[in-house]
Amino acid sequence: PSNANATPQIAKTLCPYCGVGCGLEVVETGKEPTLKFPDRFKVRGDRSHPSSQGMVCVKGATIAESIQKDRLLHPMMRDRLDQEFRQVSWDEALDAITDQIQQVLATKGADALCMYGSGQFQTEDYYIAQKLFKGCLGTNNFDANSRLCMSSAVSGYVKSFGSDGPPCCYEDLDLTDCLFAIGTNTAECHPIIFNRFRRHHKKNPHVKLIVVDPRCTQTAEVADLHLAIQPGTDIDLLNGIAHLLLLWDKCDRQFIDNHTTGFAEFAEITQLYTPEFVSRRCGISIEDLELAAKYWAESQRVLSIWSMGVNQSTQGTAKVQCIINLHLLTAQIGKEGAGPFSLTGQPNAMGGREAGGLAHLLPGYRSVVNPEHRAELEAFWQLPSGKISPQVGRTAWDMIRGLEANEVDFLWIAATNPAVSFPDLVRTKAALRRSPFTVYQDAYYPTETSAFAHILLPATQWSEKTGTMTNSERCITLCQSFQPPLGESRADWEIFAEVGRRLGFTDKFPFQNSAEVYAEFAQITRDRPCDITGISHAKLSELGVIQWPNPDHTPEPDRKHNKRLYTDRQFHTSDRRARFGSYHSQGVFEVPDEQYPFILTTGRLYGHWHTQTRTGRIDKIRQMYPNPFIEIHPKDAAKFGIHNGDLVEVKSRRGSSKFPALVTEAIARGVLFVPMHWGTLWADNAEANALTHPEACPDSKQPELKACAVAISKPLK
Ligand code: SF4
Repeated sequence: PSNANATPQIAKTLCPYCGVGCGLEVVETGKEPTLKFPDRFKVRGDRSHPSSQGMVCVKGATIAESIQKDRLLHPMMRDRLDQEFRQVSWDEALDAITDQIQQVLATKGADALCMYGSGQFQTEDYYIAQKLFKGCLGTNNFDANSRLCMSSAVSGYVKSFGSDGPPCCYEDLDLTDCLFAIGTNTAECHPIIFNRFRRHHKKNPHVKLIVVDPRCTQTAEVADLHLAIQPGTDIDLLNGIAHLLLLWDKCDRQFIDNHTTGFAEFAEITQLYTPEFVSRRCGISIEDLELAAKYWAESQRVLSIWSMGVNQSTQGTAKVQCIINLHLLTAQIGKEGAGPFSLTGQPNAMGGREAGGLAHLLPGYRSVVNPEHRAELEAFWQLPSGKISPQVGRTAWDMIRGLEANEVDFLWIAATNPAVSFPDLVRTKAALRRSPFTVYQDAYYPTETSAFAHILLPATQWSEKTGTMTNSERCITLCQSFQPPLGESRADWEIFAEVGRRLGFTDKFPFQNSAEVYAEFAQITRDRPCDITGISHAKLSELGVIQWPNPDHTPEPDRKHNKRLYTDRQFHTSDRRARFGSYHSQGVFEVPDEQYPFILTTGRLYGHWHTQTRTGRIDKIRQMYPNPFIEIHPKDAAKFGIHNGDLVEVKSRRGSSKFPALVTEAIARGVLFVPMHWGTLWADNAEANALTHPEACPDSKQPELKACAVAISKPLK
């Protein structure tokens, strides 16, 4: 059964693109449908939504155009990848899936089953997928595209605070005295919260913006201080700022003594990071380094924000901890306008974390390697003791390795497009081609990944299903459906539950609607850091957006907004103290050499979203960005005789792509930049990830998509 309601006057929902989580209102227009707007409604910003206050960017403003185009409407199957798909019934598709799962369980065991999901899921989808895979099937081989996006933030928070969970809120952007933006082009990638900060920045001359980024992005253009560090030298910079704060005695000794551990080791590590050393390593002036430390030291309230520029690194977790170190050093946490605030990429990456949607997690901020956590889940799900595997499941790239080693015989991909977003695409596609049985579940067809599927399952998307999403500031929004499912599409959680029932786990999936799924999930969070026992679909409908934690034993309405964590300075570690992390900088994994003398970095543009599955189908956005491009510094361009618009070939040790050149001083010498949005559906041979490598952070397993060594050709004729 679906929650779709065919004819509401107005529905409230959430923009399904980025982790800012802007509220949307869907309004009946009463006008005749046109070709551009084939429905009788329009979408606009929801002024009552506390996170976005009515604002939307171009992606949110044009989202309605993507609802009807290129939708996958029916289940399809084929036996081999070189065959055409044929339309089949749901029964036929689901029988084939359950047969394959049973066969794999009987022959190779549960470790040969994998699911790769998405931060586009609603929390209910995530939860049912965990119950099916980690509970009923007994494998933790569920991972999501959040692995490529923010898993370093998760592991950094856990190591420093004993638990995941961004401790800040968007209001802090209005209250801070200094915003330290590192590895985030917020103006383009999280535009609505950047607008919010800019209002505050413009109004209050004392407020400083420090931007750390090898590129002069739109964010850096309006900074008071732009530190254009060499790629991979973030830890040098962060330890260098700590060195100066310690030297100038600008630390909060009382906070350090009462609420942290590991300070002595950290202080010793920072001794190496003298201004001279850091200046040399980062390629910035000593004056700029000192100015950054001065801004930090003199500001009453310092807020750090970061996203993939920090997380997508072989030292991603260490970098996150080094940012947090600065906050611990100066007690800039648990108060208004301050704290270390990771920005999530996907609209419901946060909900995925709550529901255990990564290969090392279980629902309710639990870990698969913790025996107590597994026992709690087994008791709650009424499973035999020992049913949940104690092994961390296959993470995103481990699934590719598993296919290569013939260890994975069943791969289920849902709501994501790894044939564009994974690193080392030549190797990724070869592995996908080897898969004996791939199910691809999505709202759209074709995508680059659908070419590697044996079964296609049509999924409903944001317009057709009711469920919850959590944004970067822990605000949970009920996303209401406002039209019936298109074609034969079904909600992701319904598909997972139906497969579970067909596999014999009938009593585990009795849900009639997503409200019942959420009600069960909420109970499993009791007394956990992300306690949402006070939240239900009915409460969200009645009260609007609610922030977690929100335990049902706290009196209402006090609990609706829990803006900041750690206001009592009690952390989730065993001794309630936060941990300093001590790390030396290792630089990038792939160092430029004679053969591959440039560092390529990748990123995102204001109007596009990830692999263009939606935005590539929206005319206005396609007109904004008709072509991919590569940014190159004028001096580097001159050496190769490259002019604006020249087509150049870029090669790494793994593959090659071709891009028109954009000659600009926005990029440092020796560094190149390519947007990651273009797959083979939208351009010929312009894939950024044909060049990137899969080496990952040892803690978070997040690949270093932000830096690889490349060579560039003279202009192609
Ligand atoms: Fe959507 Fe993000 Fe734009 Fe808000 S900022 S409208 S959530 S894409």
